[in-house]
Amino acid sequence: MNDPGIHAESYVIKKLKYMETKRKLKWEKIHIIVVRLNKRNEDISFSMSKPCIQCKEALQKTKINLISWSNDQGSFDSCKVCELCSSHVSRKYR
Ligand SMILES: [Zn+2]
Repeated sequence: MNDPGIHAESYVIKKLKYMETKRKLKWEKIHIIVVRLNKRNEDISFSMSKPCIQCKEALQKTKINLISWSNDQGSFDSCKVCELCSSHVSRKYR
């Protein structure tokens, strides 16, 4: 995960797609959890890691059902990938 420019989500999707070439994957059973840790001196805290727009779109191209991410309060938020939407972008209907 040290590759700059690659987000955790896209990295995971890449890995999953590779795994799919080896065996059958049940995408709808996959639950992705994104955790971002902040390290300041010796203090480690969670930071907001809600998927960005690109990751959201990449996730929505898969059949992955659920996603969770850590938030600033140190807990997790989760929602269905299909309901994931960024507050900055208006929802587009196909
Ligand atoms: Zn991202």
